Amino acid sequence: MSQPTSVPVSVIADTIVRTVELGVTITGAALDGDTTVVFCDLVDRGAQRCPGCGEAGVYRDTVERRVTDVPVAGHPLRLRVKVRRYRCMTASCERVVFSADSRRLARPAATTTRRCARCVLRRLVVDRTTVSAVARELGRSWDTADTIAMQAAQDLLAEAGPARLGGVRVIGVDEHRWAHTRHADGDGFVTVIVDLTPVVDRSGPARLLDLVAGRSAKAMTGWLAAQTPQFRDAVEVVAMDGFGGYKKDLSDGLCNKILLS
Ligand SMILES: [Zn+2]
Repeated sequence: MSQPTSVPVSVIADTIVRTVELGVTITGAALDGDTTVVFCDLVDRGAQRCPGCGEAGVYRDTVERRVTDVPVAGHPLRLRVKVRRYRCMTASCERVVFSADSRRLARPAATTTRRCARCVLRRLVVDRTTVSAVARELGRSWDTADTIAMQAAQDLLAEAGPARLGGVRVIGVDEHRWAHTRHADGDGFVTVIVDLTPVVDRSGPARLLDLVAGRSAKAMTGWLAAQTPQFRDAVEVVAMDGFGGYKKDLSDGLCNKILLS
């Protein structure tokens, strides 16, 4: 690790603009090989309250949270964020120490920012980038990139809840070669199942329904069998050739919205 040095102003400016949504302010930057390291503080939100009892805590110490963010100018970006920790002084509270709220930055215990996780998913599912290439972009391992993508998909589906299966009439199925060389579940293939109903109705973007290990025909058969009879009855079209006839609609800017809606 080199000492903080100057990096191109454009890179800093870009990063500064984007830090607003992460809830951090930049205190410094350094280059570590190919990786840009940005040092940050959490934006101060006043007295931090204990998640256990709701009382204000007393400052204890500061730790560093390290997360990977969306690459900047083609280089991996690592954030090192100072997070203050507090002691809970309520005798009856089970919580002894708690950290300042950094959930805007990343999920609890996650090693990538939320937007980075969504970006990884988009690169893999929409841009059809390989896991290896995404791992390189992030400066992380293959396994980490794979885990980030799967977790991001699960988060997205959990956020949408069971309602995501309502009103689905047209399904698009697209298989991706997730892994080229290494052994993986489903022979390295992942099947992406998308609800194209809003695209057909011209009411909105396609929505992710699920990611399933394995090749499309078998994965889709198994996935449909696991759904309710009512769901299967409502489905009128399953487009097995990727996003086939809907490609034009998808390329009209809808691709980027598939996973984020
Ligand atoms: Zn407490």
